[in-house]
Amino acid sequence: MANDSEKMRWCFLDMDGVLVKDKGHIHKIEDMEILPRAIEGLQMLRDSGFRFIIVTNQAGIAKGFFKHEDAHAFNEELARRLVEKGIVIEATYMCPHHPNHTGDCLCRKPGTGMLEEAARSFSIRKENAVLIGDKGSDIEAGKRWGCKTVWIRNSQYPDSGKADVEADDLAEAARVI
Ligand SMILES: [Mg+2]
Ligand SMILES: [Zn+2]
Repeated sequence: MANDSEKMRWCFLDMDGVLVKDKGHIHKIEDMEILPRAIEGLQMLRDSGFRFIIVTNQAGIAKGFFKHEDAHAFNEELARRLVEKGIVIEATYMCPHHPNHTGDCLCRKPGTGMLEEAARSFSIRKENAVLIGDKGSDIEAGKRWGCKTVWIRNSQYPDSGKADVEADDLAEAARVI
């Protein structure tokens, strides 16, 4: 009989521009604005059996704009607000690097380091995973790793990275997945 973890469906979520309003290196809890229809989309995905992992580039740490602790506090508060809506974030993976400040790393998207680490920790199979992001680099990370990709349209970053599907927000993403 197949192991349960082999059948589990997983959704990798970019944070800024997908879950919360992208205000550029956002890290202060008072600036946190969960996007309209994000909760609705997450609830729909949850109801179709998806579990959630956040994968976020936070180069603001490498650039000295904020500290690791600030990012952790932000992530915890976001997770807390989502739990209130019945959404459990299983883990948040964060790349604190930037090539110009800390050199190259394996975790910064479009690198696949965070996806690989999560896949190892949670026994995630690529064919049961989807990545939702608003930048070409998110989509490229998902494609390189080998899962399905959904691009949340973003006028600021018009490069869709040739995602499998496109949507205007998480609610529409949930409908097309
Ligand atoms: Mg983003
Ligand atoms: Zn990194």
